Amino acid sequence: MTDTNDEESFEQNVEDIPGVGPAIADKLMDAGYTEIMAIATESPTTLAEMTGIGDSQAKKIIAGAKKMANVGQFLTGTELAERRTSVGKITTGSESLNELLGGGVETQAITEFYGEFGSGKTQLGLQVAVTVQLPEDKGGLKGHAIIIDTENTFRPERIVQIAEGVDMDPQEALSRIHVGRAYNSHQQTLMVDKARELAKQFPVRLLVVDSLTAAFRAEYVGRGTLADRQQKLNKHMHDLSRFGDLYNSAVLVTNQVSAKPDAFFGDPTRPIGGHIVGHTSTFRIYLRKSKAGKRVCRLVDSPNLPENEAIITISEKGIHD
Ligand code: ADP
Ligand code: MG
Repeated sequence: MTDTNDEESFEQNVEDIPGVGPAIADKLMDAGYTEIMAIATESPTTLAEMTGIGDSQAKKIIAGAKKMANVGQFLTGTELAERRTSVGKITTGSESLNELLGGGVETQAITEFYGEFGSGKTQLGLQVAVTVQLPEDKGGLKGHAIIIDTENTFRPERIVQIAEGVDMDPQEALSRIHVGRAYNSHQQTLMVDKARELAKQFPVRLLVVDSLTAAFRAEYVGRGTLADRQQKLNKHMHDLSRFGDLYNSAVLVTNQVSAKPDAFFGDPTRPIGGHIVGHTSTFRIYLRKSKAGKRVCRLVDSPNLPENEAIITISEKGIHD
């Protein structure tokens, strides 16, 4: 599913929903409902409130969107296997990490790298933002990358080094990476909508969120705020997951471990975000510092791969074995 034609059949327009003419379509789009799936999974009351459309019409539109979006329908194993054949894999630069991941960072999935400060999470995001651009025979998907940068750690100079490491023109590499700086968790979540707009203009095959949890963690402090934080994070994760499915894109997120025992998730080597993040990530990799630029990567959760470890090296050229 790497060419534009396939992508178009993947995506239908809001105007194609039965009962939606241009005027209603405008109202929906203005309220931020630019996708069938967003409408199909909305409640009639909220849709009516957000758009100013009447309740009964909202119900009809949602029903129409549900049919189009295949919500709540079963697929056979054969159909799902077919869908799996469109999954792309992006090289991390390290054969052993690729192998750990079953071939590389997958599209239509969320891959989470977590670990303490300096463990290489940002480096992995930058690396894959470059390698996704490579042709398929070199481990890429000839795609663009989007990075939602919440910690201000994107460095163009580092992209130049990594691009040189894979024999890619550094200026071209930079031109295919779209970076959005998010200053708080609200902005971070809104940027997924912006990312969707970009994905309509460019063949985006990778969305990086670095860091997924830092802003949430900083803003929602104290026991009383936990439910709210988890609810927002939950929605954000589902938006990311949907982005991956809709655009056949990989989603790479970074997460921290709680440095000191967290009031809610006591274990200091556990990633933060609790069950929400854990259950929505398809692959979780724990990064641990080792000697001389080496990092140990441990696959801790995968639907189809065994728990295992890989060792990678981070050098000036980027990530390699
Ligand atoms: P975090 O997990 O906090 O996001 P980073 O991905 O920023 O960690 O990793 C930082 C580490 O990456 C540095 O400590 C260093 O070991 C390595 N690194 C970053 N840039 C370079 C470089 N140009 N050359 C060699 N190593 C680098
Ligand atoms: Mg970082």
